[in-house]
Amino acid sequence: MKLRTLEDLGDVSGTRLFVRVDYNVPLEAGAVADDARIRASLPTLRGLLEASASLVVASHLGRPKGQVKEEARLAPVAERLGDLLEMKVGYERTDGVVDDRVRDRCAGLAPGQVFLLENLRFDPGEEANDRAFAQQLASLADAYVDDAFGAVHRAHASVAALPALFLERGRPAVAGRLLEKEVGALSKLLGEPERPYLAVLGGAKVSDKLSTIGALVERVDALLVGGAMAFTFIAAEGGEIGKSLVEPERFDDVLAAKRRADERGVLIQLPEDVVAAPEISLDAKSQTVPAAQVPRGQMGLDIGPRTVEEFARAIAEARTILWNGPMGVFELEPFSAGTRGVATAIAGSSAYSVVGGGDSLLAIKRLGLEDAFDHVSTGGGASLEFIEGRELPGVKVLEVEG
Ligand code: ADP
Ligand code: MG
Repeated sequence: MKLRTLEDLGDVSGTRLFVRVDYNVPLEAGAVADDARIRASLPTLRGLLEASASLVVASHLGRPKGQVKEEARLAPVAERLGDLLEMKVGYERTDGVVDDRVRDRCAGLAPGQVFLLENLRFDPGEEANDRAFAQQLASLADAYVDDAFGAVHRAHASVAALPALFLERGRPAVAGRLLEKEVGALSKLLGEPERPYLAVLGGAKVSDKLSTIGALVERVDALLVGGAMAFTFIAAEGGEIGKSLVEPERFDDVLAAKRRADERGVLIQLPEDVVAAPEISLDAKSQTVPAAQVPRGQMGLDIGPRTVEEFARAIAEARTILWNGPMGVFELEPFSAGTRGVATAIAGSSAYSVVGGGDSLLAIKRLGLEDAFDHVSTGGGASLEFIEGRELPGVKVLEVEG
């Protein structure tokens, strides 16, 4: 898969570029609580500004559902972006996304200046992939850059209809540095990854990741399953799981995945032992028990030490590793050893390693291991859909034809 990139824009000096970014950041008390996503866009923005382009930057934030919601305004984001770029970032508190004021501000941008549009999802046209809304956005700039990896799996106007419109008009639509890097790194998991290819999945709900499990069974050599989702597998096969989290309505799905894995000779490895406690709390009395014999009144909250050893052994043999989802309730120290063990094993392996998932990222940040992986993906849903081999609307439109 080859994308058109910033190089395909040629000389951008004096041009106005529409840059779609993913600034869907957490806000607390009217300020940006975590600016990792803003920082991730800086290489693209700085490169374009140094080349004397002017930038109309746009993002969604939260789920305002086509209405103006005061708490979802991008004002705090404009502020933080300005701090990081060390310049004034233009912004207007508009009652929509594009109005006359915004058009004037964009038209008046000098080379090297930035204007941040209001939350794209304030306009119902964004999520509807509406062509008329895309036309309003297109009127603001000469060319299009997409650096919003976290949004490319959705057919929304700013990532789908808009770049298509630019291309129809014979104007460039390209991927920014972050999107280019994500697609490059994740592409290595498609095609011909070095084998054994191992996937490690965890997290809360099996239902969130069923399609990923289904797709990975067709691609990987082995699948290690931890976290709460393991209990749906264990219970489906008749194990005793106490009051661990479980999704009985998914028993048929996980059994089907197991059968398909058996057919393909792919091992789905479940925890052997788990750390169990009566409740999710820091001072609950915990014990290690066999994963399929969790006592009544107890819940499995982490993979146990033997499982960590087993998983680490499989990790050490792998040449390609995908990890998504914590192995336990890593937020609480008594249930964090499993996630720490798996993270450390992957970090120490020489395999090509990719980590995705919001909570998994939080876990590796806390462990100070962010730099120990070959790729840490910024897009949760988008990265899973990509590695499943699905076509993503916002990527497809930027592919070089032929
Ligand atoms: P990611 O964001 O990395 O994709 P998920 O959102 O799927 O991960 O799941 C993360 C959450 O799963 C964490 O908040 C963690 O506490 C929870 N979790 C993991 N294992 C268990 C378990 N055994 N019981 C209850 N919750 C769990
Ligand atoms: Mg999560």
